[in-house]
Amino acid sequence: MIRLENVSKYYGSFKVLSDCSASIGKGEVVVICGPSGSGKSTLIKTINALEPIQQGSITVDDIQVNDRATNLPRLRSRVGMVFQHFELFPHLSIADNLALAQIKVLGRGKEQAHAHGMKYLERVGLKAHAAKYPGQLSGGQQQRVAIARALAMDPICMLFDEPTSALDPEMVNEVLDVMVELAQEGMTMVCVTHEMGFARKVAHRVIFMDQGSIVEDRSKDDFFGGGSGHSERSRQFLSKIL
Ligand code: ADP
Ligand code: MG
Repeated sequence: MIRLENVSKYYGSFKVLSDCSASIGKGEVVVICGPSGSGKSTLIKTINALEPIQQGSITVDDIQVNDRATNLPRLRSRVGMVFQHFELFPHLSIADNLALAQIKVLGRGKEQAHAHGMKYLERVGLKAHAAKYPGQLSGGQQQRVAIARALAMDPICMLFDEPTSALDPEMVNEVLDVMVELAQEGMTMVCVTHEMGFARKVAHRVIFMDQGSIVEDRSKDDFFGGGSGHSERSRQFLSKIL
């Protein structure tokens, strides 16, 4: 479903991603972790071309991401993305937040887009809040809306960049619960997160990044299963967060 081959990226002369390769199969859930500044956000953003790359290639399904001819709105409509800070439109109601991209990018009619959005709003348990504005919801509720909004585009895979790290602790689980459900339904997911409980529960693989490189890419059981084979950096990292 997603394939990165020898991806390198620079900010000026600073090499932020160094020869990263990974492939994520349909229905696979991959957790990416690693120290702050290691390139996790940059890597995940390259998958839907929010960050251009200088070397290597990325394909999503049959779409060549780093090809000038690629229709980026179409690519992004196939790849759902959820950020740390929700990024809802503050001046639009929740219902309109859910409908907007469906109308603008997918060309759906207003009524159809609203009905489709409402289905997903119900799934994340927020149907009663459709007429409210983002500012009237809690952080956890806003993040669930952001997930519903991405799902309403019928994506083939979902990217999450630390979706719970800006939330008050008591709201983390309501968002993780939605993500766990999605994973269990077979959605292909790439999640940058330090929520190792989530990783243990639903991840198939864990990728550990350090200084722009993929240092480890292992099955979950292998990753959590014991010391052998861990790099010194991931051992240190895990000892701090577990
Ligand atoms: P992570 O998500 O793992 O914390 P990032 O991908 O955000 O890491 O950043 C990786 C590195 O790239 C950091 O050193 C960061 O300072 C740098 N960086 C991120 N965005 C930019 C940018 N737009 N311009 C220059 N450097 C950047
Ligand atoms: Mg980041």
